[in-house]
Amino acid sequence: MSATLPELIARLADGTAPALHEAYRLIEAGEEHLPQLCRAAVDVRLRRKAPVITYSRKVFIPLVNLCRNRCGYCTFARTPADPDARLLTPDEVLAIAQGGAALGCKEALFSLGERPELRYETVRRELHKLGYTSTLAYLRAMCALVLRRTPLLPHVNAGALREDEIAALRPVSISMGMMLETASPRLTQRGQAHWNSPDKNPAVRLATLEAAGRLAVPFTTGILIGIGETRRERVDALFAIREVHARYGHIQEVIVQNFRAKPGTRMANCAEPALNEMLHTLAVARLILGGEMNIQAPPNLAGGDFARYLQAGIDDWGGVSPLTPDHINPEAAWPQIARLRDETVRCGYTLRERLALHPQYARCPQRWLDAALQPRLAECLDADGFVRAEEEVLV
Ligand code: SF4
Repeated sequence: MSATLPELIARLADGTAPALHEAYRLIEAGEEHLPQLCRAAVDVRLRRKAPVITYSRKVFIPLVNLCRNRCGYCTFARTPADPDARLLTPDEVLAIAQGGAALGCKEALFSLGERPELRYETVRRELHKLGYTSTLAYLRAMCALVLRRTPLLPHVNAGALREDEIAALRPVSISMGMMLETASPRLTQRGQAHWNSPDKNPAVRLATLEAAGRLAVPFTTGILIGIGETRRERVDALFAIREVHARYGHIQEVIVQNFRAKPGTRMANCAEPALNEMLHTLAVARLILGGEMNIQAPPNLAGGDFARYLQAGIDDWGGVSPLTPDHINPEAAWPQIARLRDETVRCGYTLRERLALHPQYARCPQRWLDAALQPRLAECLDADGFVRAEEEVLV
C-alpha cells in the first residue's frame, strides 16, 4: 500500500530525493499540506547547510533591450520604433559599473535581449558602428572593459547560448545564468507564453545547460511559475535541472520566480500566482533539489513576505542593487539591504554577501574559473568563500 501524503513528506524530510511520481504527489497536494511541506523543506536545507542566507550586491547593466523573441509577459524587450529602445555604448556601460563600484557593488549583471541583430537591421547597424558583428561579441568586449576598468566581476545573463559562445564568455565572466523557465514545449504553441520565441524552446535551453556543464561554468537557472504551465510541468522542469546538475555539478543556484502580469503585454490579464502557490513550489523545489542546492526567490517580487519565503526553504536572495532598478520587473523596487538583513536575522538566519559565484564554487576556483579571473577572488573573499566582512556595505 502506498504511503499517505503526510507519511511521504515525513520520509523526504531527511533529504531523500523524491522519485518523479512522488514529486507529482507533492506538487498536487492540497493547501492543507503546505505547513508540513515547508517544515520538511527547511529541515532538508538545515541538514546540509548552516543557517546563512546569501545575497549579491550588484548593478544591473541592460546592454541591449531589443530581442528576437516575443515572450507574452515581457516588458523588457522593445522594438526599434520605441524611443526607449537602446544598445548601451561602452561609456554608458562603464558609467553604470563605476557607479555601482562606488556604492560597494561586486557584481556587474549583464542582462540583455537574445540575438536582436537577427531580427533588427537597426541593431546590426549600431553594432557595426561600434565595430562588432554580433551582440555576443560586443557583450564579451563590455565584460572585458568592466573587468579592466572597475573592481566589478561580470555575471552574464544572455539567454540561450551555444557551446562556443559560452567558451568565449567564460574568460570574462565569473558565472552565467539563463532561466530554463519551463521544460514544456507546449508553451511555445500559438497563444502560449513562449509563442514566437525560438530561444525559449526547452530543448534549446536544456542544450545551453548541458554545454555550460561541459565547460565547468557556474550556472544560475530556474523556473518561472504562473505562465500557463501545469503543476506537473513545474516538477518536470525541476527534474530536468536536477538531472543536468547530477552530470556536471555546475548549477550553482535555482531561482523560483513568480510571473507578474504587466500592462501592455499579451498576458496582461492573466492571474499572478498567489503567495501560497509560490511557497508550495519553493518547498517542493527544495525537496526535489536537496539540501545543498542554493535556492533563490527574488525579494523584490515577494510583496514583503520575506519571512514566509525563508520558511519555505530558500537560502539566497539573489542580486540586490542599491543603484539600478530591476529592468525585468521595473515596477518592483529592490528592498534595502538593511531591511533584508533585519528580516533575515529576525527569522534566525545570518545574512552574508556573496559574489555572483556561490561560496561552494568560489572555494574551488581552479575547477570553476578561468585562470585570469582567479586572483580577483582573493582580493575580496574570506576563507569560506563569502565577501570579507570589511568589504561589505551594510546599507
Ligand atoms: S527572451 Fe527575455 S528579453 Fe526576450 S522577449 Fe523573452 S523575456 Fe523578453
